[in-house]
Amino acid sequence: MSAATTRSRTPDRLCAEAVDLARAAAEEAAAPGVVGEHVGLISEGDRVVTHFFECRELGYRGWRWAVTVARASRAKVVTVDEAVLLPGPDAVLAPEWVPWSERLRPGDMGPGDLLPTDADDLRLEPGWSGEDEPPPNSAVSEDMAALAEAEDAEVTGARPAELPVTPPRGTIAAVADELGLRRARVLSRYGLHTAADRWEEAFGPKTPMAQAAPAACVSCGFLVRIGGSLGQAFGVCANEFSPADGRVVSLAYGCGGHSEAAVMPKPPQPAPPVIDETRVDPFPLRPAPDSGSVPVAEDASSAELGHS
Ligand code: SF4
Repeated sequence: MSAATTRSRTPDRLCAEAVDLARAAAEEAAAPGVVGEHVGLISEGDRVVTHFFECRELGYRGWRWAVTVARASRAKVVTVDEAVLLPGPDAVLAPEWVPWSERLRPGDMGPGDLLPTDADDLRLEPGWSGEDEPPPNSAVSEDMAALAEAEDAEVTGARPAELPVTPPRGTIAAVADELGLRRARVLSRYGLHTAADRWEEAFGPKTPMAQAAPAACVSCGFLVRIGGSLGQAFGVCANEFSPADGRVVSLAYGCGGHSEAAVMPKPPQPAPPVIDETRVDPFPLRPAPDSGSVPVAEDASSAELGHS
């Protein structure tokens, strides 16, 4: 039979009456004057009772001094088991402890920090490592690779033994290298989706910046395309004046720095000077004699100096 089933729910009478003994034990354990009213008791088992006293210590609102007393079977003397300070139902407590791996937030990592990933991290899945041998009848089997290697040696003049140790052309490893697949783990579908959600939230079409943008990134000259499946929905902004410079942006994002949003007006140019050489303007050099003050025009040949 378990201990829980043998516990008496009715407090032992002698233990329940030992309030003064419990108070003395609490006052001995606590600082002077911080043990308050007796606020209750509970039966912990046969002839074992815990008394609670209010704690008046600053910073311990809702905590209680708990003193457990007990007596032996057929004994009339009650003794103290222990006296501790325990939080009551209304106690002010620190927030529940959260493991560090769940506490980390983007941007928390600093230089020199290491962030290990779990072996079963949902964001990752096994990549193609190249450890598996191709099937014997495969078009990229060892025979095929040897043929390709020999062909390379003919072209480059190097003997096969002198060739670099990069995967031979025509092997799965070479193709995998080209595609960037030879990694122990790669992003899982879950990892892709969570990354896309994060990026969409930070630089997506629902942000105030995008809502007020004259056009979307998809048509912007500052957008640098990225590869992979995420490249269908995201790119990298390369406009130093944009808030998203160097960041992954949704193709539906946008900002006022869009390359085609506005064209800078050219500075005003003065009109070119007009030179009229098609006619001659007569210009008087001196007043005509005997004609009062009315000037006489020079003839056409002598008036060339008067050209405008
Ligand atoms: S400048 Fe603005 S519109 Fe152009 S790619 Fe960057 S964020 Fe998008």
